[in-house]
Amino acid sequence: MSQPYRHYEVVSQLVQKAAAAMKLDPRVKELLREPMRTLKVSIPVKMDDGSIRVFQGFRCQHNNVLGPFKGGIRFHPEADEDEVKALAALMTYKCAVVGLPYGGAKGGVLCDPRELSEGELERLSRGFIRAIAPIIGPEQDIPAPDVNTNAKIMGWFVDEYSVLRGSYQRGVVTGKPIGLGGSEGRDGATGRGVMYVIREAAAAFGLELRGATIAVQGFGNVGSYAAKFLHDLGCKIIAVTDIFGGVYCKDGIDPYSLKEHEMRTGSVKDFPGTTPVSNEELLALECDILIPAALGNQLTGKNAGSVKAKWVVEAANGPTTPEADEILKEKGVLVIPDILANAGGVTVSYFEWVQNNYNYYWSAEEVDQRLERIMVDAFQAVYKAYAEREEVDLRVAAYVVALERLAAAMKARGWV
Ligand code: GLU
Repeated sequence: MSQPYRHYEVVSQLVQKAAAAMKLDPRVKELLREPMRTLKVSIPVKMDDGSIRVFQGFRCQHNNVLGPFKGGIRFHPEADEDEVKALAALMTYKCAVVGLPYGGAKGGVLCDPRELSEGELERLSRGFIRAIAPIIGPEQDIPAPDVNTNAKIMGWFVDEYSVLRGSYQRGVVTGKPIGLGGSEGRDGATGRGVMYVIREAAAAFGLELRGATIAVQGFGNVGSYAAKFLHDLGCKIIAVTDIFGGVYCKDGIDPYSLKEHEMRTGSVKDFPGTTPVSNEELLALECDILIPAALGNQLTGKNAGSVKAKWVVEAANGPTTPEADEILKEKGVLVIPDILANAGGVTVSYFEWVQNNYNYYWSAEEVDQRLERIMVDAFQAVYKAYAEREEVDLRVAAYVVALERLAAAMKARGWV
């Protein structure tokens, strides 16, 4: 049997690399070595047929030197403790790269939401938030959407938590529906952030975006918006896949019409004017930018050799394994790392939380302007760390920026 994939170990190795490139205080490294807390819970759910099923869930709180823990909750059959720990660590570094006053956390529930009825999903969601309620709160740990979770589920979370506390606690969760204190622009925020980072990188590395060809893996909340915003910039979306199949058209696909088709039929498959493309074919397409916007570990030692894109922009968390990273580097493919590329989502989550604290709400334009400024600054900070050092790629540079900020906060708080 093959060894299970060691997600947390992979993030730890990246921290090691960055620590070596910047001569990080070893005490800071030691404080970041293990998550501060991981809560493992069992969630009993009464199913529609009268049976009881007990689901497993986790909330991992990695580090909170910069502020309350922050990070999404995913519902996935393969979510496990090690993966949740790694994703929580990515949140620590992601929040630090964009300069948010948050630590990192992540939650996961082992389930396949497609097999659950609406009522079962609601009872599971409420059960999970009850189980982790003792360790979350608007000043403690603030969950948000992630893979297979959305605004509707966030609405159940905030309701259940508020009932437990006996008062409305809108700031305990972000990614809520607008009517419950959600922010304008949260839905498209990750995709919009991906677009800003690509725009800045194109200026820094000299890539013409008008007519640039783009392949997107995943057409959910991240991939579909990234495709739309890049299309608006003049890029050509030549291929898109989802879990059911994919579509290709060398002249470009209109992502707005594709979204309507997907909403109507449940998949991007069979979109008129396109030919089918498989996931593996998409990853190997000749294009300027490949955007993995689905799950982790999609580019591996096995398939990275066939990547023909000039850039890989990680809209998903952890889509490139370290083996793939090495191969891409040797091939001269520029990789824009997840903790920078997809930080737009948590940034607008932060805006939502700020608006909840004030109970005063911003327009979509205000949200977008503030997001743009944060993403541009984050890119410039990472680019500077990259340009100043030899033998450092953008991923390690992003960790250097994050670790500098974490180390400064640890020092200021007297932890080291
Ligand atoms: N799940 C998203 C991420 O991985 C957003 C987290 C948040 O908004 O707290 O960055």
